[in-house]
Amino acid sequence: MSGAMVAPAVPKRTDVVVVGAGCIGAGVAFHLAGRGLGVVLLEKGHIASGATGHSGALVRQHYEARLGIRLARESLEFFQRFAAETGFSCDFRTTGFLSGARTRDLPAFDALLGLLQQEGVRAVRLTPEETRSVEPSIDAADYAALVYDPDAGYADPIATATGLARAAERRGAIVREGCTVRSIVTKRKNVTGVRISGGGRIETERVVLAAGNWTASLARPLGVRLPIRFVRGDVSILRRPIGFGPPPKIHFDFYGNTYSRPDGDKDTLVGYMDTNPRKTIPRHDLADDSVPAATVRDLRSRLAKRFPSMARSQPRGGWSGVYDVTPDAYPVVDAVGPQGLFVAAGLSGHGFKLSPALGRLLAEYVATGRRPEGLVPLRASRFDERARIRPDAPFPARRGARLP
Ligand SMILES: Cc1cc2nc3c(=O)[nH]c(=O)nc-3n(C[C@H](O)[C@H](O)[C@H](O)COP(=O)(O)OP(=O)(O)OC[C@H]3O[C@@H](n4cnc5c(N)ncnc54)[C@H](O)[C@@H]3O)c2cc1C
Repeated sequence: MSGAMVAPAVPKRTDVVVVGAGCIGAGVAFHLAGRGLGVVLLEKGHIASGATGHSGALVRQHYEARLGIRLARESLEFFQRFAAETGFSCDFRTTGFLSGARTRDLPAFDALLGLLQQEGVRAVRLTPEETRSVEPSIDAADYAALVYDPDAGYADPIATATGLARAAERRGAIVREGCTVRSIVTKRKNVTGVRISGGGRIETERVVLAAGNWTASLARPLGVRLPIRFVRGDVSILRRPIGFGPPPKIHFDFYGNTYSRPDGDKDTLVGYMDTNPRKTIPRHDLADDSVPAATVRDLRSRLAKRFPSMARSQPRGGWSGVYDVTPDAYPVVDAVGPQGLFVAAGLSGHGFKLSPALGRLLAEYVATGRRPEGLVPLRASRFDERARIRPDAPFPARRGARLP
């Protein structure tokens, strides 16, 4: 897969074609190959060139719906043992996770803390004073209480997708970069193959569309309509000032509208907490994925209200990416349209951290033809059935869907 290597030939026929080598497609390919199926993973650009490579790659368990917590817990364990599972490193780093609540939000905060603990997350409640020993550089004066989960962290999203794709290859999968799937071929409502760039065709009875922001448009000619909209996400990297102290934990600041995490030993990555899912953009490929200087300044001044010494931080760049968002901010992972077509789409800003669990579950569905129990809530029909996923313990209470 490196530039120096000659790309392997694409076979004329295979058991499953997976479209898209982000964290989802690479993960599905890894699990499918582990089940002994013939797999061809096709990527139009390079591995992780889509949302995965633009991800903040936070791996937290702090979800307000039981479903999210369960998927996140399974996934976190996979990140922790990634090297043993795949033989490659995803550079997962445990940082811990902190978030606070003001007095008016304490009932919702305690309900969420209870839910997390019931689900087995090692989350504890701290006072602002107790927090000082955990996070010396934070200004927690406006918080009445904080939640601390010591197990959260982040990984390298590019290393993650690449590791999964390489591990899939070791299990016998064929991975092709620079190969675009032009369309999915069907006959009498059954998938029969894919047409690829250069005029070739691969025969297969099963196709997994894990093409991220491109999935909806690839599925549409087959009569499949996915309720997905696109939302821009901006991320900035700030060099922490000398004397900042120990690297910070992941922090969700609902009041200052930032999420942040350390990035390596010296930098902090920061983005907007409440990316408004209603502020959609018409296209999913940004002409320019750099982050505007005004956005960097805004993120830095917001972060400095929570971590005062960050007012002296130095911008080190950043980027913009595009979230694929569904109406309930949970993905669609299902069989749709013609027999043999599967999608994992609308990851809504959670796709990186949930990818290990979703990859395992979708591979099981594709391999056995039976939908695993864990995927029932993520069925495509839930929006028509008025069975959207709702938070079991929303925080703050009554707020809408959140993305990162
Ligand atoms: C700014 C930002 C920050 C984020 N932060 C986090 C975070 O902290 N934690 C978290 O869990 N999630 C986060 N996310 C979300 C997460 O990154 C995504 O949900 C996840 O990466 C989606 O993975 P994917 O494999 O579905 O899609 P992608 O990574 O987009 O992969 C799809 C791939 O399909 C390829 N493709 C498309 N069309 C074709 C075709 N026709 N033929 C062949 N290949 C094709 C694309 O080139 C692409 O590489 C963030 C997203 C953004 C934008």
